[in-house]
Amino acid sequence: MIKQFLKRFFKLSLKISIIGLLSTVILFFVFNYFFPFKLDISYSQLILGRKGEIIYGFLSKDDKWRFQTELNEISPTLKETILYKEDRYFYYHFGVNPFAVGRAAAKNIWTGRRTSGASTITMQVVRLLNPKSRTYFNKIIEMFRAFQLEFNYSKEEILQLYLNLIPYGGNIEGVKSASLLYFGQEPEKLSLAQITALTIVPNRPTTLGFSTNSDKDYLITTQKIIKERNKWLARFKKDDLFKTETIKDALEEPLDINFRKMSREAPHFSFFLHSKYPNQNVLETTLDRTIQQKVEQITQNYTRRLDKLGIYNAAILVVDNQTKEIRAYIGSQDFYDSLHSGQVDGVQAYRSPGSTLKPLIYGMAFDEGFLTPKQKLLDVPIDYDGYTPENFDKNFNGEVSVEVALAYSLNVPAVNTLKELSVFKMVQKLSDAGFSQIEADKHKLGLSLSLGGCGVSLEEMVGLFSAFSTKGIFKKPHYLKQNNTKTNKSSHSIAEDNFSFPLISEESAYMVSDILTKVERPDFPSDYQNSKNVPKISWKTGTSYGRRDAWSIGYNAHYTIGVWIGNFDGQSSKYLTGAQVATPLLFQLFGSVDYAATNESIKPPKTLKQRMVCSETGKVPSDFCTTLVNDFYIPTISQSDKCQHLKKIFVSNKEVKDKISYCSFCLPQDNSEYTTEYFPNIKPELTSYYLNRNLPIRSVPSHNPFCTHIFKDNNFPQITSLFENREYILDDDSTQLLLECRTASDISSVFWYVNDKFLKESKPNERVFFNPFKFIVNQGKNGKTKISCTDNKGRNTDIWIRLKRNF
Ligand SMILES: [Zn+2]
Ligand SMILES: [Zn+2]
Repeated sequence: MIKQFLKRFFKLSLKISIIGLLSTVILFFVFNYFFPFKLDISYSQLILGRKGEIIYGFLSKDDKWRFQTELNEISPTLKETILYKEDRYFYYHFGVNPFAVGRAAAKNIWTGRRTSGASTITMQVVRLLNPKSRTYFNKIIEMFRAFQLEFNYSKEEILQLYLNLIPYGGNIEGVKSASLLYFGQEPEKLSLAQITALTIVPNRPTTLGFSTNSDKDYLITTQKIIKERNKWLARFKKDDLFKTETIKDALEEPLDINFRKMSREAPHFSFFLHSKYPNQNVLETTLDRTIQQKVEQITQNYTRRLDKLGIYNAAILVVDNQTKEIRAYIGSQDFYDSLHSGQVDGVQAYRSPGSTLKPLIYGMAFDEGFLTPKQKLLDVPIDYDGYTPENFDKNFNGEVSVEVALAYSLNVPAVNTLKELSVFKMVQKLSDAGFSQIEADKHKLGLSLSLGGCGVSLEEMVGLFSAFSTKGIFKKPHYLKQNNTKTNKSSHSIAEDNFSFPLISEESAYMVSDILTKVERPDFPSDYQNSKNVPKISWKTGTSYGRRDAWSIGYNAHYTIGVWIGNFDGQSSKYLTGAQVATPLLFQLFGSVDYAATNESIKPPKTLKQRMVCSETGKVPSDFCTTLVNDFYIPTISQSDKCQHLKKIFVSNKEVKDKISYCSFCLPQDNSEYTTEYFPNIKPELTSYYLNRNLPIRSVPSHNPFCTHIFKDNNFPQITSLFENREYILDDDSTQLLLECRTASDISSVFWYVNDKFLKESKPNERVFFNPFKFIVNQGKNGKTKISCTDNKGRNTDIWIRLKRNF
């Protein structure tokens, strides 16, 4: 009977247990589904330098020092100490330790008081994540959450969470924060004594924390901590947790605990990365703290004297050319100068580049083959549909070589070269290299691009120049270490642009660099090339329109350094020029950052050849070319057309008063009546330049008046849109006049001049519009204006018109 009853009872209770267990499990899954465990912890961010130094620490979104301790930062000692102190059965329970709960419950009933101690690390994490008042109901919720935590996360992750959340007084949370702020060290480097001290504070964070303590409190607090620390060390010894020697050392170790301020270096750099990668706990960057500090120091000293010139902002970027890693980054020399917008980041700001894009224009022209360094370019007044660029010194030089044009940063040759190259190609190249403002404005940009009519950032420019130093291969400068050990551990993976492409050829890059080393250096006024110990630097200056931006960007094999100086509010200063203001700083920086650089210059690539060219034009010499110079060229790419600097003309031989010239049709039968002479073959644009300056030109004698063959009247260009001596009324200052002409059928182009100033080259049947207003201004009241049309065979027609303003 009893036996049967027992059997039934046993069966029933088994049933009940199974049902109970099953429903608990089902209930757990139901609750787990409807109340999922969400981890939404905001961590502080650490910006590390390339050697792992802390550059900047950012508070978490809820203003806490809560750095995430990575698993590899939890040393075995730290782990053992924590587990020994807080939860010895951590690896054996499911979030709740039933024995400890039972013991605590019994104790509570026995003493009539509520004491804790039953809390596992898991339970503590639950409470730290969501603090609740201590009621039995909340305790049940917390137990459910603890199970849930154990169900969803591994033991290691739970331990990590615990270490990240334990309070250390004030706004300091987690072992890593405490380790950094109290000991100035990463947690994996802590000694046993330090670890033990750190495990004590969380029990009484308000009395043992340091964040707000005065000196007097400091001593008392340290005494308390040492006493407590040694008590625990003694327990470790008793339980054989560590070697006796280790514990002995720890007992003797002085306590160097103190609240340290979090590092706040390279603020623009740090803020830039912080806003770019807000969810990374650690960013291992390429910044070189030593170089950064040097650059900051030099820039601050240098810019101090610019204040009285009305110049308040400077930005610097240093890139290692071989690795393309950022080494120093200064957005503005004083981040805390709020009066002059010190927080604006000048490395990222879009500004006008002035002339700093010219090296790319010529580099691309070398690659297109239409230029070589010694080739001559026109430097005369031009007008491209109203766009009339002038040189910085307002002078024109007639004809200059590419070398001179680039070294002296002449504007007209650069604009002409860009015109030949096409704005489209240039814009495309810059877009490829990540120039984002240029990409955005690509349909609006014109020839003024060559003189700074666009927006670029210092970062973009430094990347561009760095490509010249690495055989023309462009790669975007990067901020983060490629083989980062800590950054990738976080759940959010980050990747920087890592593409590379040939910006220009190696040959062109060498030619551009070679030209850019030839400018007179500000720190070595004369023949620096001869002094062997001076490192070779290629550099280019830039000054934006209206003197608002001064640039100087330089490079050698090791570094590219970019300097921008100006005012963030756009205020101009007459002292703001690249050469005067930015270049001296550039050279100071080079002297400091790359002081050990040798004079070893970059060798020209084997594929770059040299040839003799005519010094007059820079082209392959003809028989009549006598002065030759050495020039670089790229075989099969560079043009090889022959020099035409002279033209062969038959002229009369007789000692007549007025010499005449012959064409092949009227050439006398008797060859004693004529001789062959060479005359300068001057481009029409240059003719007017020489005439305007009263420079002598050896011109061809007038043609044989008895020649009947081609120089008939109707072969001269005939202006058909305007008439001799007629008056034209200008309604306002934008009235346009039409230029049109009729030419012989063998003419391929005509050149228009207004008052002997070259206006435009056009096709013979092309309609050209021009605004005569500026000419009338120049002409005074009578408004007499000379219009000339010259065809490509040199035949010219002039007419005079009168312009009258009606406004
Ligand atoms: Zn020649
Ligand atoms: Zn003739």
